[in-house]
Amino acid sequence: MGEAILKTHNLTKDFGALRASDAVSIDLRPGEIHAIIGPNGAGKSTLIAQICGSLTPSAGSVEFLGQDVTRKTTRARAGMGLARTFQISALAMEDSVLQNALLGALGAHGSPWRFWRAAMGDRDLRDRAEAALARVGLQDAMYQRTGALSHGQRRQLEVAVALTLEPRAFVMDEPMAGLGAQGSKTLTGFLDSLREQAPILLVEHDMDAVFALADRISVLVYGKIIATGTVDEIRRDPAVQEAYLGA
Ligand code: ADP
Ligand code: MG
Repeated sequence: MGEAILKTHNLTKDFGALRASDAVSIDLRPGEIHAIIGPNGAGKSTLIAQICGSLTPSAGSVEFLGQDVTRKTTRARAGMGLARTFQISALAMEDSVLQNALLGALGAHGSPWRFWRAAMGDRDLRDRAEAALARVGLQDAMYQRTGALSHGQRRQLEVAVALTLEPRAFVMDEPMAGLGAQGSKTLTGFLDSLREQAPILLVEHDMDAVFALADRISVLVYGKIIATGTVDEIRRDPAVQEAYLGA
């Protein structure tokens, strides 16, 4: 599978007396979907926040594309191609789908209209935004108001925004949350095709989606990784069954 794109080394985060991440070492390899599962409060979101830079670890480090990025800002990591998706609140609901894709491509979410005008005049940027929208199946919705999109379509738009940044890795925190059965199925099919573009670190509660998509699964319990393996290995693991799947 080649060199890892993203790695954590003994990542540890304390909130007072609570160790929310306890020496977590995981990696994300080219072409794969690596799912992180675990009960509520296990530390999944805390792990993702440290990987993306919105939380500073108490100890340990994060490596992306062979560089130690532990001290880099969220924005600097995004600029290197670390795409954290599905922050739906980051979309400008009054703006068109294309405007959102352009602003995302500019790294200028929520910026004044002059940024948008500059973006519209930039042929290369516009081509990239339109190609990304086509890739997620939103080409016919380009001129619609973002607020008029369905929940599932907004998630696709977030992926399109990430695609315009030429991502080297995706990090997703519960992308299936709030989607109905049909929406989950559509998104599952889409994520399946996305892994060729860049590998995905996927935190997800929807076990149907995890079992359908994951090349590897890591199980997080009380801040610690208790097992990493293929879908079959994890399903058969007695410690995992006891700690999580049987619950
Ligand atoms: P998960 O995403 O797996 O449900 P979280 O990473 O959100 O878990 O939380 C892990 C643990 O850390 C929980 O016990 C939670 O209450 C605690 N926690 C998360 N964020 C903070 C914070 N900012 N301050 C204090 N405790 C926190
Ligand atoms: Mg969480």
